[in-house]
Amino acid sequence: MRTAGALPQSAEALANPACVVGPGQRCEHALVDQALNQRLVAYEHQVRGRFAAIVDTLKTVSAFQHEVDFVARAQRYAQDRLGYELPADLLEDAWVAGLNMRALHACCTFRSFKECIERADADQAPWRERMALDADFIQACGYHTVDVSPCADGRLQGLLPFIFRMAPNDNIQVKAYAGAMFDVEGDVADWTHRELERLSGALPGGESANYLKIAVYHFSTSLPCDQGCAAHGSHDSKAVESALGRLNELRAAIENTFGRGAAPEILLVGVDTDIDAIRVHLPDASGDVNPYRYVDTGDLYRETLGMDAASARAHLAAAVARAEAADGWAQGEGAMNAGMHNLVLRLLEANLSQIEYVIQHHAGRYAVIGHDEAFICAGEATNYVQLRNKYYYAHLDTVEEGAADMDVGIKIFTGLNIRHGLAVPVLVHFHYSSRVPGARERAVMRCKRVKAAIAVRYPQLHEQGLLNCQMAVSDRYGSERCAFVEDAAVAAGH
Ligand code: ZN
Repeated sequence: MRTAGALPQSAEALANPACVVGPGQRCEHALVDQALNQRLVAYEHQVRGRFAAIVDTLKTVSAFQHEVDFVARAQRYAQDRLGYELPADLLEDAWVAGLNMRALHACCTFRSFKECIERADADQAPWRERMALDADFIQACGYHTVDVSPCADGRLQGLLPFIFRMAPNDNIQVKAYAGAMFDVEGDVADWTHRELERLSGALPGGESANYLKIAVYHFSTSLPCDQGCAAHGSHDSKAVESALGRLNELRAAIENTFGRGAAPEILLVGVDTDIDAIRVHLPDASGDVNPYRYVDTGDLYRETLGMDAASARAHLAAAVARAEAADGWAQGEGAMNAGMHNLVLRLLEANLSQIEYVIQHHAGRYAVIGHDEAFICAGEATNYVQLRNKYYYAHLDTVEEGAADMDVGIKIFTGLNIRHGLAVPVLVHFHYSSRVPGARERAVMRCKRVKAAIAVRYPQLHEQGLLNCQMAVSDRYGSERCAFVEDAAVAAGH
């Protein structure tokens, strides 16, 4: 029932742009980790399967809602198909006014997400141990912390394990913002916090290491004017300049405050969300990044297909050296440092596996090249589920501050859900630290404030029952993950 808007695609239009092969030839690149791709596809099927069954299950349940044993039968059916029961109160009143499908659909969306979180460790263990950019490698490159700010677009949700092949761990932070326009003050605070940990010896092995900030913009090569970054009106150059502008502001903020040489290293990466190829903008010897100096893995994949592993690696290194030596608009001041160089080469190579993943498991280009998220996550993102288009994320502390991100999300879901009469499910989620007394209560109150403010900002949707907010909190250090909080519990002070 989901469509990506007006996208009538012919078979020719869907021919894969990364890998164009003759009859009988296959896309099997020497540097691709086939075993890792197998593990990732199993994960993708597990997670998507939990959402894909919702609509058919609800349609079937709806068909027998007027029968005498409806509630028991519906629960048995839901348990069987979805792995959980439906909210009893929504079923029990069905005989009076009919089933509230809108509310049930939103509940199931949240419940399936919860199911993914509860099983995240088991689901993710197989691929986590095989990532190309693991914690040891990143540390060996000279970084104690990698702070990644992609666009909040759901198509970048699988960024770490799929597109970057980077193992999520405690030293990697992902903070998404619309248009990758991250909060400079917030980042200065995060950087300061990590510096304090480094200086106090709380980051073993990180004493002489640096902080790396990566901004990730995105674009669509198939429909550049429609399916690029919504926050920048699909203007690719604006997306690049804006993300780079923030990176430079962050460096200036820290240098101006803490002195020259204090600034973190930066990296700018672009993602073609149609095929998951990346553009890595190469820093120069001073760490400066340039919109025109980059290498593109889509090109590298095509150029190196059919080569043996050693030749393909040599080709990658040569391409990087060529880009570094470029003159004109792309010119930089010397070559990047050795740690960054190793990181960039590994990242380029790792992404080739993702290009082939899309070729083998998504026909070379995603069938839905636009938005297809299941819900909006407002507040602080959960990083428990790592998969393309699972939710649209609006980072916000208060609705006033995050209004722009929230408006973009509502606009996207007007096309995805409201058009079909479905509500927009909004998960309002915040973290707390169980080490801080009273923090959980404050996080819950924050959820409640944001939930109320969302209802006020979109009064028409709220009145028509087209907004369905679920509040949740997670402990940063403990075992509570995305625990659902109900209004009644807030009122009672629990
Ligand atoms: Zn975007």
